[in-house]
Amino acid sequence: MPLWRCVLNKQKGVLFMAQLYESEKEKRKTIIAEGKTKIIERIPREPRKVRVINKNELTKGDGKDRISWEGKGAFSNKTACNCFRYLEYYFRRNNMTVPTHFFEEYDDYSFIAHRVTMYPIETVYRRVATGSALKRYPGLKEGDLFEVIEFFYKDDAAGDPYMVFNEETEWYDLYDSKKPVSPETYLGEVPRTAFMPSKEQLDTIALYQGQIFEALSKAWADEGTVLVDLKCEYGESLDGIIMLSDDVNADCCRLWPFGDKNQMKDKEVFRQMVGEITPAQKAILNKNYLWVVETTSRFPGNNVTT
Ligand code: 5GP
Repeated sequence: MPLWRCVLNKQKGVLFMAQLYESEKEKRKTIIAEGKTKIIERIPREPRKVRVINKNELTKGDGKDRISWEGKGAFSNKTACNCFRYLEYYFRRNNMTVPTHFFEEYDDYSFIAHRVTMYPIETVYRRVATGSALKRYPGLKEGDLFEVIEFFYKDDAAGDPYMVFNEETEWYDLYDSKKPVSPETYLGEVPRTAFMPSKEQLDTIALYQGQIFEALSKAWADEGTVLVDLKCEYGESLDGIIMLSDDVNADCCRLWPFGDKNQMKDKEVFRQMVGEITPAQKAILNKNYLWVVETTSRFPGNNVTT
């Protein structure tokens, strides 16, 4: 091979590597945050908005166990957009103000949202006793009807401890989420440096959580399905407005068609699968997520066909 060609190839190679490096750098510049199932991207010339991209990942056990398949992110995205559009419609119709970060569906995998700073809290509304509630409230039996709003501090390593506001210290105490609250299950305080809501802001979050649950449980009830519980996350916009943020999809709630746990359609199905996930099990998950997309597409405020 003549020497000049070698030199050219080497230069081309260097150029190619430099381009790859630049595009990787560019990509990193646009990413604000990346979690287990989502990427939050900056939008050029739109400092108050972000693009929320759903990945194809499905995780459990605080992210230790995961599978992924083509289309899973699109199911999450479509479900979230259907639910956000419905909530917008429902609250407008009922003259209620419950801000959400949702602007509009962008493409199959993403939507445009307000830029917010997230509180590291999971807020759960429960209407039917199941899951971790049975461990914290030993008096309850699976399927009992009750109403509660609970807060959990987002900390995968600590298993998302149960969180209560302590009126004396005016800060947040943490307890083992798998046991009843007692001095024995006390784990310590939320780090004082964490970005946390004030007590008044937490009360607003609790109010919104109840209203959001009410709205969604009505829509699900019209489809013959019981919304058993719902986990939401909230953030604060650049103007200091508290808004429902993150996602609302089949991975953050329990859905029991006709109130029958055996027919559940949510992420619990994946949580209960043990060992390596087989293609047949993946097909079941895929079918369930598709069912959730189709059902939420019929929620009022969505005149979209799937
Ligand atoms: P539990 O506390 O009974 O495990 O869950 C209560 C509800 O919150 C369920 O609908 C469950 O799917 C949801 N949930 C609890 N923790 C998480 C979490 O870390 N991630 C997601 N996506 N949902 C959660």
